[in-house]
Amino acid sequence: MASIIDGKALSLSLKDGMKAQMEGLEAEYGRRPGLAVIIVGENPASKSYVAGKIKAAAYVGMDSRLIELPEDISEDALLAKIGKLNSDSSVDGILVQLPLPEHIDEDKVIDAIALEKDVDGFHPGNVANLWLGRPCTVPCTPKGIIRMIESTGIDISGKNAVVIGRSNIVGKPVAKLLLDRNATVTIAHSRTGNLKEVCRQADILVVAIGRPGFVTADMIKPGAVVIDVGINRIKCVKEDGSEGTRLVGDVDFNAALDVAGHITPVPGGVGPMTITMLMENTIECFKRKF
Ligand code: NDP
Repeated sequence: MASIIDGKALSLSLKDGMKAQMEGLEAEYGRRPGLAVIIVGENPASKSYVAGKIKAAAYVGMDSRLIELPEDISEDALLAKIGKLNSDSSVDGILVQLPLPEHIDEDKVIDAIALEKDVDGFHPGNVANLWLGRPCTVPCTPKGIIRMIESTGIDISGKNAVVIGRSNIVGKPVAKLLLDRNATVTIAHSRTGNLKEVCRQADILVVAIGRPGFVTADMIKPGAVVIDVGINRIKCVKEDGSEGTRLVGDVDFNAALDVAGHITPVPGGVGPMTITMLMENTIECFKRKF
């Protein structure tokens, strides 16, 4: 039976550590770290992610502000808002919740955030520095994934790691972070042949696809560390017999429990750690200013 990597508990202990630092930071630097979160429109999933980020900022005692902008805001108006936050010295981190409405060019928006305030680590300057092995802001989800693997006590060095998914926000950066820790890394995707065989070689399997229950027990090497990044909302029947929805990951969790050595749950795994790494990145951006 796999042990569960409890992302919620790990997050809480990390956030408590940050909370304990906050007064000291204020005393040393004259103010607390400041995070600005921008949301455009009414996407319910985005609203819930943003609420989680603001709640975590309040928990650790950071200054945060939520900027809610209408769905039909022009690209120029959004860029102007980011420009103002770039020059606001009380703001250390700027996050624009993605996805944005179709009429707004996401690349332009990411590029507009000052490199030193890019707490998501999505700016091309941070991406380049990550791949060059230079100091940078590491994207939150991949950073949290590494912390969760490290929390098992398993040494990443020399292990076979397979990452399913090659997105810029999860798959590619987590592969680079695993490579930095001397794993032998394979990045799999929708065109990978014999995916099952590839996955079965993995001592560490990171799954970031967006398909409920896609990874089945027969794709997992016995004893592997399995990190399930997927967040999928599926229909279910509630206890009272009514129809509802629930969140599941990309891994068939119950079946995987019998095979894996360590596994992250959904919810309560990668999600909370992503938010916690955002707090950490904001504090790092704050400290770099001084
Ligand atoms: P993307 O849609 O950008 O990428 C999905 C990747 O999965 C692609 O590389 C795609 O391959 C690959 N893929 C799709 N189908 C298959 C298949 N049948 N076999 C193998 N590979 C496949 O997704 P994201 O990386 O943005 O997100 C992935 C999941 O993680 C989503 O559920 C998302 O909600 C979740 N997520 C969770 C976060 C958290 O904090 N917990 C943070 C970010 C994302 P190809 O490139 O060939 O199309």
